[in-house]
Amino acid sequence: MDNAVTPSYVIAIDGPSGSGKSSTSRGVADRLGLRYLDTGAMFRAMTWAMLDAGVDVSDAAAVAAHAGTPVLVSGTDPLAPTITVDGVDVAEEIRSEPVTAAVSPVSAVPEVRARLLELQRAIIGSGSIVVEGRDIGSVVAPDARVKVYLTADPAARAARRAAEEGGSDLAATQESLLSRDRIDSARTTAPLTMPEGAVHIDTTDFSLDEVIGQVVALVEAAEAVS
Ligand code: C5P
Repeated sequence: MDNAVTPSYVIAIDGPSGSGKSSTSRGVADRLGLRYLDTGAMFRAMTWAMLDAGVDVSDAAAVAAHAGTPVLVSGTDPLAPTITVDGVDVAEEIRSEPVTAAVSPVSAVPEVRARLLELQRAIIGSGSIVVEGRDIGSVVAPDARVKVYLTADPAARAARRAAEEGGSDLAATQESLLSRDRIDSARTTAPLTMPEGAVHIDTTDFSLDEVIGQVVALVEAAEAVS
């Protein structure tokens, strides 16, 4: 791969559900020849593991007690990201409705965040990478070279998510997104927030290619001054 920029840096892409983080992050990583990490998939995989083990996900102490158990492995190819739990491919299962409904309460448990923070930092290591999530620029990689905070109107976010999910009910999808936003923004440990130093992009009226172009331009501008 042709690496257009100096190696060893992080591009942090945060924002609420459906703001375009995944498509943008994968597109930027692909264009710049970088690795890609979807931290939301890690929280979803941890949630899937809890449900699979019969843990009561509304019981924070039970969730905390199980947080160290599952072995999670994330592949970082932006064109084919993978995720396994104890060697089992869970890429499809982590997008299921029960996982989506339970992921925000599970992600609010400090022991879960501590475990995944360690894994995320190990994957980031010393190589260049695009990392997407809710707390990347604020907690996981506060020294990221470029920080982006993506948002979009709730209706646009719900329409995108419903299309990804194969035409599910728009109103229900929007309510599910907003409910996760509320929990993610209100939690005590590493809440969803616009990190210091982040560039805010409202993606509502832009195409995916335009947003990818804006982020690549930010990376190139940062490269020029570094
Ligand atoms: O990005 P995605 O919608 O797949 O994330 C699912 C959930 O995982 C979020 O709603 C949030 O509760 C949690 N999450 C988090 N911190 C991150 C990434 C995701 O708490 N860095």
